[in-house]
Amino acid sequence: MASASACLEVRGDFPLLERCAAQPLVYLDSAATALKPKAVITAMSHYYERATANVHRGSYPLAEEATEMYEEARMRVAELCNAPYEGTVFTRGTTEAINLVRLSWGRARIGTGDRVVVTEMEHHSNLLPWRALCEDSGAALDIVPVDSQGRLDMQSLLRLLDSGRVKLVAVTHVSNVLGTINPVDSIVSACHEAGAACLIDGAQAVPHLPVDFTAISADFYVWSGHKALGSTGIGVLHADPSILEEMPPLMLGGEMVQGVWPDRVEYKPPPWRFEAGTPPIAEAIGLGAAAEYLLRLGLARVQAHDAVLTEYALARLERVGGITTFGPAIADDRTGVVSFRLDGVHPHDLADLLGRRGICVRAGHHCAQPLSDRIGGPTTRMSFGPYTTTSDIDLCIDGLIEARDHFRSLTAL
Ligand code: PMP
Repeated sequence: MASASACLEVRGDFPLLERCAAQPLVYLDSAATALKPKAVITAMSHYYERATANVHRGSYPLAEEATEMYEEARMRVAELCNAPYEGTVFTRGTTEAINLVRLSWGRARIGTGDRVVVTEMEHHSNLLPWRALCEDSGAALDIVPVDSQGRLDMQSLLRLLDSGRVKLVAVTHVSNVLGTINPVDSIVSACHEAGAACLIDGAQAVPHLPVDFTAISADFYVWSGHKALGSTGIGVLHADPSILEEMPPLMLGGEMVQGVWPDRVEYKPPPWRFEAGTPPIAEAIGLGAAAEYLLRLGLARVQAHDAVLTEYALARLERVGGITTFGPAIADDRTGVVSFRLDGVHPHDLADLLGRRGICVRAGHHCAQPLSDRIGGPTTRMSFGPYTTTSDIDLCIDGLIEARDHFRSLTAL
């Protein structure tokens, strides 16, 4: 049972929460993108105001300083997920990282007769690239179903692995609709026992729970900076350097080569081989600051904070009446994502009405349409960050009750 004392008190670190004194901002859409702490904004401004130069090319002190900041950011990001420094590639986000694996690793290894496995709870970013790879290569795509509690049907996954034909399992660590935390350790072990590789989509996990890439030992682990208190335009692919070593670069251009001759080219080792051209420097530095901030906060504390808020939100929603919630009933088995439906009110209408009260929630299929269809259509979703409080949830529930009464009065006319 979660305890209210587990809640974090960090609101003062997030300038956006002071946006408007007249109407407090109730930000319950952190699964879409998280608010940024001052430390991240300051680190990015520092690069622009005091340390702008391109990285990995100039030898004058300013350029060396910028390169040092960029590589230090990589170090902090690797530390956050206990991943190897050389196995930490900066990408533009989760979507780009998955597509990098599809086009560089997947195209070379997956062909006719092979099977690729995804799950019913994948975000489109971890479904469409694999569907395309299967279409291009002649492999088959299998989808592991989700049970009525919003958990993966592990027996179905194990049966597929038993076929001996599965080359890759791509699965989310945490569902962006249900909040379900998947048992990634046992999924990766089962994959490896069956000779399959495993990619974990950590977009909803990294900012919410301790992630130990080395312990999980997935072949690929990907996530987005902007959901982890960093800026947009930056993400991460973690992989063992020996796996990256075998992968051809996808983007070709400046700074990813050791040398270019008329008849041959020698690429840099990973991770730099995968970072062609000028990278998103300020964004990487900002992500380094976000990683440092999260390391200081402690992800176990963030997870406990999420569990308190989730339990609180589920209990308060139940008392409203006419609400259906989705996902595991036990708050500890999920992170701070709560999707629900209010009888007789379309989620978009509800989100619009709440939005007018300064309450930011997301409505729709959340870019996970197969799962959305499985649970009966669009939902409204509250999602939490370290700055979320129980009073944010109270304000949302007050708004919900008002919306419910408003729509009921309309139907009574
Ligand atoms: N996977 C999951 C589980 C997500 O929640 C998201 C973003 N909603 C993505 C992938 C895609 O992330 P991005 O848009 O940052 O590439």
